[in-house]
Amino acid sequence: MDQPWKTDKWYVSPFCFLPEVRKNYNFAPNIRIHDVTLRDGEQQTAVVFRREEKVAIARKLDALGVHRIEAGMPAVSDQDKAAIQDIAALGLTSEVFGFARCIPDEIKVVKAAGCKGVVIEIPASDHLIRNAYGWTVDRAMKSSIDATLAAKEAGLYTVFFTIDATRTELNRFLEIVEQVATEGHMDALTIADSMGGCTPDAVRHVVKKVIERLKKPVEIHCHQDFGLGVANTISALTAGASVAQTTVTGLGERAGNVPMEDVVMSLLCLYGIDVGIHTEKLCETSRFVLDLARVSVPRTGPLSATSCTRWSRASSPGGSVWRAGIIRSSSCPSRRSWSGRNRCRSCSGRTAARRQSRSGARSSASRPPRRSG
Ligand SMILES: [Zn+2]
Repeated sequence: MDQPWKTDKWYVSPFCFLPEVRKNYNFAPNIRIHDVTLRDGEQQTAVVFRREEKVAIARKLDALGVHRIEAGMPAVSDQDKAAIQDIAALGLTSEVFGFARCIPDEIKVVKAAGCKGVVIEIPASDHLIRNAYGWTVDRAMKSSIDATLAAKEAGLYTVFFTIDATRTELNRFLEIVEQVATEGHMDALTIADSMGGCTPDAVRHVVKKVIERLKKPVEIHCHQDFGLGVANTISALTAGASVAQTTVTGLGERAGNVPMEDVVMSLLCLYGIDVGIHTEKLCETSRFVLDLARVSVPRTGPLSATSCTRWSRASSPGGSVWRAGIIRSSSCPSRRSWSGRNRCRSCSGRTAARRQSRSGARSSASRPPRRSG
């Protein structure tokens, strides 16, 4: 592609593709999306998915081309366990993972549910080990080793998930994960910016250090507390992380998890990396999941929102130019087959307002009409 920044589908900045900008990128050859909507996403206040809803969401994620689905934590309840069993039995193309604490019995439940892999969590910071788990650091370490070995014995792909990793002293963090990797077992390590308190530069630095030290695949799990979750996730990928953990439209506690749509579209349009997600289904999937979650679609945002003003067009003497948008189309919603957007209420409303203004139906001081939804 001669001009990857300007195709028949998008038009972004050529600066993104300057060799001097890209020279330090170290993307993994096959970046994968690990969706955590059914586990971390469901931790958003007042969001509860029923068993059959979880199965329906899993089918949608599979159709979307998501590589992995974290179906839940079977130890939480019989309902959760049943839903995970149902999802694992669907025979999806997506790999189904379960989530467990560092307790060997929970690993067995994940295995019995039919999952291919397990994500095993442990707090990486002393204060969470003490205050959230009520454990000593020694107990946490022993439990991590025992649980990861149990996962290996069960034949599960084992992802060791370090909660709050970014609020740990770096050398201490490296020592902890190295000990678990050598005395226990891990196929991959997740660095979790659980409180969303890290910067893209810092995430990149830590990912590089961990890969150098462990020589294991690294996964990245971020939150949006400072609005940097997407940037942090992509920064980790530029440093060699190979899996991005995301949720549909950023469902998740506090400010939310990282929206899958934004990561996928940014990688595709701004970095030239197609991770294999069927982008034309992104908005449909978002609407489906948000509807089941009883969460309203945000009015503004990059892709899944009702408003598309970021993609608006401005006129210039030489014709139309695309001001700030990423989608190159003759009118905002016309590329719906690619982006999956249904319609654009903002643009249609604004156009209607302009027409009204030109016809004198509105006073110059009046505002465009408010729209519901
Ligand atoms: Zn999380």
